[in-house]
This record gives sequence, C-alpha cells and structure tokens, in this order.
Amino acid sequence: MKKYLLLFLFISSFSFAQSADSLVWLHDIDSTILTEVRYATPNNFTGQILYKSDKVYLRKVVAESLSNAHKSLMRNYALRIKVFDGYRPLSIQKKMWEVMPDDRYVADPAKGSRHNRGAAVDLTLVDVTGREIDMGTPYDDFTEKSHIDYKKLSKNALTYRAILRSTMEKFGFEAMSSEWWHFDFKGWSKFPIMDVEIE
Ligand SMILES: [Zn+2]
Repeated sequence: MKKYLLLFLFISSFSFAQSADSLVWLHDIDSTILTEVRYATPNNFTGQILYKSDKVYLRKVVAESLSNAHKSLMRNYALRIKVFDGYRPLSIQKKMWEVMPDDRYVADPAKGSRHNRGAAVDLTLVDVTGREIDMGTPYDDFTEKSHIDYKKLSKNALTYRAILRSTMEKFGFEAMSSEWWHFDFKGWSKFPIMDVEIE
C-alpha cells in the first residue's frame, strides 16, 4: 500500500512540476500583490466582459520578478503594485483589435501581443491603504498623455511614473513608449503565443 502511495506522489509531483516557462497564477507566487482585472468586468475600453476569470496568470519567471519589484516598492517607497492584466488569450486579442484597430495601443492579433505570451503586465501603484496613485491618466487612456515621454503632468505624477519605471526596469522589465502601465519582460520572444482560456 505504502509503495503505491509513494508511486502516486512521485507521478503527481512530476506532472505538476513547473518550469520557469510555465503559466502560473500570480496569487500562488505572491498573494500580497493586488489585482483588478478590468477585462473581467465591463469597466474597460471595449465596454464588454472579455475574460471569464479575474485571475492573473503570467510565466513563472515573470511572476517571480514582479514579486521582487513589488517587495522593493514596499521596502523603499511604502507603495504596492496593482495588476490590471497579465496573460491574455489570443482569441481575446482579436476581440480587442475589432474595437481598437490601432497598433499604438492594441497589438495586431496577426502578430500577437506580448500579453498573449504571458510575458507582459499592466499595472499601477497603490498606497498602503490600497488607494490608486494618480499617474496622470487612468489605465487604458489611449491618448498622448499616457506616453512615457509626456511631461505636461503634475510633479507627483511624473515622480510616481519614474518610480514605477525605474523599479520595473531594475527587475527585468522594459517600459513601452505609448503606455505608462505596460511592461514587457526581457526575453519575451522566447515564450510562445498561447490561446488557452483561464477559467
Ligand atoms: Zn499591456
């Protein structure tokens, strides 16, 4: 009996073994990171519920790096991260493209988004009470005010954008010129585009 139990444990640990490339639930890596998945609600630029689940998934190495960035922000600035989006199925990318066919803001599904690879994250900063920091524009504001070189913002907003960007870059992420909230993980191209639905 004991022998069968050990065999079972061996098989299950083998099948659940995760590599750095696995898609993982962010909550399993760091449950202290806040999430608010707008695409699981009608409160997004399409006005439609696009995701069945409000769970954020990322490649394991991306989630671990994000957790390190979050810990650094807490330690150095008493700030926390709130994630709006991570892995996004390719089928959802197609729906977004129908609403916003402008590749400055939505990746053309023919090429795929870095979100479709589980290697990009949309996020903002919140204070210790969980209140969102004013970053100059809301999330998914598709105007030039969201560009990272846009300077006509309050001093506070510019400071917080700089804190977010420098911290993310320190932990392996790259900023995107047209969206202050979007970061790609370096080496994103090695992760394949996937179309799995998160339940
Ligand atoms: Zn994004």
